[in-house]
Amino acid sequence: MGAIGIAVLAKKNQLGKIYDLNIKNINYETKGFECDKCSNNCEILRIYRDKELLDSWGSKCGRY
Ligand code: SF4
Repeated sequence: MGAIGIAVLAKKNQLGKIYDLNIKNINYETKGFECDKCSNNCEILRIYRDKELLDSWGSKCGRY
């Protein structure tokens, strides 16, 4: 699993992008907020890489 699984998925999806593994120069940032769109008041967490939103999680409805 892990690295082999990623390699298999990349090959299947024909991903040609070369990734730079030098992560010390990449700025990762997390932010969180409480959604007030309904009574669940989910705590939404977001992760950004160099100001670009990578992913969000915590939503019970799939909104984020
Ligand atoms: S993320 Fe969805 S379920 Fe959670 S509070 Fe917002 S609208 Fe409600």
